[in-house]
Amino acid sequence: MIPYGRHEIDNDDVNSVVEVLENKFLTQGDVVPEFEREVSSFCGAHHAIALNSATSALHLACRALEVKRGDIVWTSPISFVASANCAIYCGAKIDFVDINPNTNNIDPTLLKLKLIKAKKNNQLPKVVIPVHLCGLPCEMSTIWELSKEFNFQIIEDASHALGAEYNSTRIGNCKYSSITVFSFHPVKMITTGEGGMALTNSREIYERIKLLRSHGITKESKLMDKEKEGPWYYQQIELGYNYRMTDIQAALGISQLKKLEKFILNRSTLAERYIKNLKSSKFKTPLIPNNAKSSWHLFVVKISLNSFDEKRILFEYLIKNKIQVNLHYIPIYSHPFYKNFGFKKEDFPNSEKYYKEALTLPLFSNLSFLEQDKIITKLEKFSNK
Ligand SMILES: *Cc1c(COP(=O)(O)O)cnc(C)c1O
Repeated sequence: MIPYGRHEIDNDDVNSVVEVLENKFLTQGDVVPEFEREVSSFCGAHHAIALNSATSALHLACRALEVKRGDIVWTSPISFVASANCAIYCGAKIDFVDINPNTNNIDPTLLKLKLIKAKKNNQLPKVVIPVHLCGLPCEMSTIWELSKEFNFQIIEDASHALGAEYNSTRIGNCKYSSITVFSFHPVKMITTGEGGMALTNSREIYERIKLLRSHGITKESKLMDKEKEGPWYYQQIELGYNYRMTDIQAALGISQLKKLEKFILNRSTLAERYIKNLKSSKFKTPLIPNNAKSSWHLFVVKISLNSFDEKRILFEYLIKNKIQVNLHYIPIYSHPFYKNFGFKKEDFPNSEKYYKEALTLPLFSNLSFLEQDKIITKLEKFSNK
């Protein structure tokens, strides 16, 4: 079976992990801070906090921006559920902004219209979470301008977009956001097994996420409500979690980061091959705006079919041919958990259309041309049926 995504681990990765296992602290040593420095300097942000997942990073990002009961958070309906769950963890209300049919990202024009309406009803969001779907950056400068006009904060869910560029600078530099979040799950751009990171240019946000990562416990006397009682002393000053990354994971991350540019190059080459070879088929390939460089985390094509039955036939045909296609994503509001919040499909026509048409083709750094040619041949065969 050709999977839709797969990690790539080599001997250097294995040796880096073994080095930690044999010689270093397994957690809370110096490898996690080193990984944080590497990622923040790669992206061009002042601070980075490594966490045990991007889900935890999104949760703490919301906590750091004081998202709480009574607040509203907006995100894209076409994302992984974690982009929305983080607001619910904090007791806030979640709402969605429909996507743009060309980029499949949150639509800045629809965002503006929704903000104007929300302002009238006194329902403005405290935070908006744009998601760089498939590794294609959102229209961040427009969203940034809107955040100034309507007074909200921005968390970029860049789980797909490590190494992507927008206006010739790297996603993660937080030029247009308070916080940017990455995932290191094995299907993502680089992996630590499980893992995530939050980046920010704000010292205050950095300190807060670091505190919440480890139970809300501090050893710094300046944060305590009284003098230290001795060298053993620490205080829990608020309710945090154990969301730490281990040094074993960070060692894998450092080693993987060295290969990110190679991974992206391989993925872009494969993406260009898909685009070229599917030109005359029924499958529509992605369009990349001039001011953006995708990290090509996912390769989503669209095909207009008459029904979900036809889509099921297409999926079954490819899976029978050992091609593990996928669908990223089912609109978040249509999951049973979200149904209770009263969302209406009619409010998100572009997302509904996307869900009917989208199909994720296999794309990962070590997908061979031979495997890719087989996928293209099968798609063409389906096209001509
Ligand atoms: C993978 C993913 C997450 C969650 O990442 P984890 O590290 O698995 O918690 C969040 N948002 C998006 C868009 C993702 O693709």
